[in-house]
Amino acid sequence: MGLLQRIITAVLPRAKAAEIERESRAWIVTCEDCETERSVWEMGGVRWKASGSPRWRIKCETCGSKRWHTLCYVE
Ligand SMILES: [Zn+2]
Repeated sequence: MGLLQRIITAVLPRAKAAEIERESRAWIVTCEDCETERSVWEMGGVRWKASGSPRWRIKCETCGSKRWHTLCYVE
């Protein structure tokens, strides 16, 4: 679990923390090179009350280096 996730889990009421986790898990990050999919939560991140389809340049575990990733909210 990432640091921000630990803080959220420790500080917020359980129901609120669960809501943030659920939303962070619904945000799927897809590598534009190899199409590996991970959720923001799996990556140790948090994404909540966000919209749009941004792109992040982050490390892809499959490619082994930084790649462009597309974020997509999956209901
Ligand atoms: Zn990749």
